[in-house]
Amino acid sequence: MVLIVQKYGGTSVGSAERIRAVAEHTAETFRKGNMVVLVVSAMGGETDRLISLAHELSSNPHEREMDMLLSSGERISAALTAMALNEQGIKAMSFTGRQVGIITDTSHTEAKIEKVTADRVKQAIDNGIVPVICGFQGITENSDVTTLGRGGSDLTAVAVAAALHADLCEIYTDVEGVFTTDPDIVSEARKLDMISYEEMLELASLGAKVLQARSVEFAKKYDVRVVVKSSFSSNPGTVVTREDKEMEKVAVSGIAYDKNQTKFTIMGVPDRPGIAAALFRNIAEAGIVVDMIVQNISSDEKLADISFTVPETDTAKTRDIVEKVARELNAAGISTDKNIAKISIVGVGMRTHSGVAAKTFQTLSDSGINIMMISTSEIKISCVIDSKYTELAVRVLHNAFELEKE
Ligand code: ADP
Ligand code: ASP
Ligand code: MG
Repeated sequence: MVLIVQKYGGTSVGSAERIRAVAEHTAETFRKGNMVVLVVSAMGGETDRLISLAHELSSNPHEREMDMLLSSGERISAALTAMALNEQGIKAMSFTGRQVGIITDTSHTEAKIEKVTADRVKQAIDNGIVPVICGFQGITENSDVTTLGRGGSDLTAVAVAAALHADLCEIYTDVEGVFTTDPDIVSEARKLDMISYEEMLELASLGAKVLQARSVEFAKKYDVRVVVKSSFSSNPGTVVTREDKEMEKVAVSGIAYDKNQTKFTIMGVPDRPGIAAALFRNIAEAGIVVDMIVQNISSDEKLADISFTVPETDTAKTRDIVEKVARELNAAGISTDKNIAKISIVGVGMRTHSGVAAKTFQTLSDSGINIMMISTSEIKISCVIDSKYTELAVRVLHNAFELEKE
């Protein structure tokens, strides 16, 4: 018997009709002799709706309450999906994160999974019952409900697949698989048949929301075979797997963009040891993750400007810290810019191909796009630009690296 974990995203369970289609598909897989475990997201738009409701009542809702609220979306879709399966003549039971035994740490809204016991899920499987698991949620040792960060149902699916030693983890979504870039903004984007964990992890961390970054990290660590495919067709999708030699032949595999960052600059701080340490220690102590950092030194003045980016959701918290540090350092001023985007080129082939950075910069420059910050790693190059050029930048780079071609 083959054990398959199938995760359905928000659009795929977005209406009674879509849930019925999921149940029919699951029933078909089950009747072929496979055992299926389902993981479902909240119905499309539900999590955003709950977040807006919370913000109508509080400017800074308590994160514990936020988790209590947001976890409700997945309860609805799981129960409805189980009902639809029962209607197909398949025995099914819905389970919350707590019932599955998804134990997390206490970082509400971004909790990390520590353990998955899955006893009741195993029991259900042994009894021929299809478990339908609420994605995105867990429970602390003290029985507080937690959520796993946006897109976290992907992580639930991968973690459950690892715990059950499933043969396969299928992520069903609203596109045919992982593309060379977001098919929503570049119509020529090409579906990839295969992508390495490393590249997928970079693309996901750099903004490609087709898979949650932490789910890819988890899949890599526990060697879970992941396939991303459409819930609207029966096409084969994209296999996320270990890197092989063939993959290094292409320099660039994909392009990601992220508009959800804010750039801060502290101007005119003394250019001496300890300044950057003081600033970033304060930011780190507040639990804020800094992404890019650039320091410019003016040689005559013995002063420096420090720029860095943080997630947009941390803008207010970061501004408080930056204002305090700027006062202490007697800085000339600070600036905040939310209208930025990070464009990233990813490919394991960059390790062996030269000239990718030069071509990236030239392509952006030919389109009159100014680069504010640059960062690179072994398999990626990221540039911060004005957010109004995001779509243009992705399109010209996709074209320059001929990603539409096989
Ligand atoms: P789900 O609700 O099924 O989890 P998501 O909205 O989280 O779906 O992720 C799917 C979306 O990711 C697609 O609709 C697409 O617009 C976007 N996306 C961004 N980058 C890519 C990419 N490289 N390949 C495929 N989809 C991408
Ligand atoms: N419903 C959650 C979200 O919208 C989790 C998920 O869809 O994966 O982020
Ligand atoms: Mg998602």
